[in-house]
Amino acid sequence: MWQIIGQTRAVSLLQHSLESGNLAHAYLFIGPSHVGKMTLAVHLAQALNCEAAERPCLECASCEKIKAGSHSDVQVIGLTRNEDTGEAMLISIGQIEDLQHDANLPPFEGKHKVFIIDPAELLSLPAANRLLKTLEEPADKVTFILLTINDRLLPTTVISRCQRLELPPLSVAEEAKALMDRLGIEPERARLLAGLSHGCPGWALAAAGDDSLLQQRDQELSRMLDTIKADYVERFAYVSRLAARFTQNRGAVYDILDLWLDYWRDLMLVKLDHHDMITNIDRKDELVEMAGGYRLNQMKDFIKSISSTAEQLRQNVNTRLALEVLMLDIPSKEGGGVENLNNRISVKYG
Ligand SMILES: [Zn+2]
Repeated sequence: MWQIIGQTRAVSLLQHSLESGNLAHAYLFIGPSHVGKMTLAVHLAQALNCEAAERPCLECASCEKIKAGSHSDVQVIGLTRNEDTGEAMLISIGQIEDLQHDANLPPFEGKHKVFIIDPAELLSLPAANRLLKTLEEPADKVTFILLTINDRLLPTTVISRCQRLELPPLSVAEEAKALMDRLGIEPERARLLAGLSHGCPGWALAAAGDDSLLQQRDQELSRMLDTIKADYVERFAYVSRLAARFTQNRGAVYDILDLWLDYWRDLMLVKLDHHDMITNIDRKDELVEMAGGYRLNQMKDFIKSISSTAEQLRQNVNTRLALEVLMLDIPSKEGGGVENLNNRISVKYG
């Protein structure tokens, strides 16, 4: 029994291939973070090794071991960080050579070997080239599953040797319903979690069981609101903290920019009277009050600015500079503080 939220197309395709014995040797699962790529990969590994008649049963010893990450025939090759800097390291040719060595041995305790590479975009070019050989001449009873948020980050030679499976985000309504049905979450909270997770249930499931995730989001939103009201000295101090964090954990800073983006989109939706479409439904009153202070064009321009900052960070521009420009682009409330801030900035930058 596949317990995947959404992704009916991918699940039925895999189930059908499994039953007809037509599984590919290598898959590429493409979809945003938390959409369920790893869950689906683990389910496939369970299905390939399950001892029950209906696979995956998720209950037999093999399914349990794979879920716990302790099955010797199922390996995840993934993110490692530099011990000193905390930066993500590329998957090396040495790691792929170890994998190839393992892949040539028969399954040890199960029926089928599965290697999950996550995220596949971290494959160094030599590692990707080395992997090609294995993907071209796959051993029996070996399946590779590559996970990525963006297949354009992978060499086309690798992509062409995998069967692609796209895992799109769910609609907010579909995800909210799944959260209500499976976890018994009450509708308002399910709608909030589904909206905040953008149709990627992994985050919503984690947040449903761990209040600290929503608390972190509240803290980041408070920091954003403080920063909007702050002068440039404080805004640039905030940039310094974000830039330092970016070195340690890029994802955390992208998440913060996503929060900003959601909030300003919500302001725009409120301004346009589309209250039912907002993401931050628990902050509706605050959004309504704040939306009154800005013109629609200011909101649109700032939303563009946040998007372009996120885009630039992904293209490895100067982090601090990109974030400082974003701070300069924060719109001033109608009739409040514009002159003062502009004066101060002209002093700082000439
Ligand atoms: Zn099982």
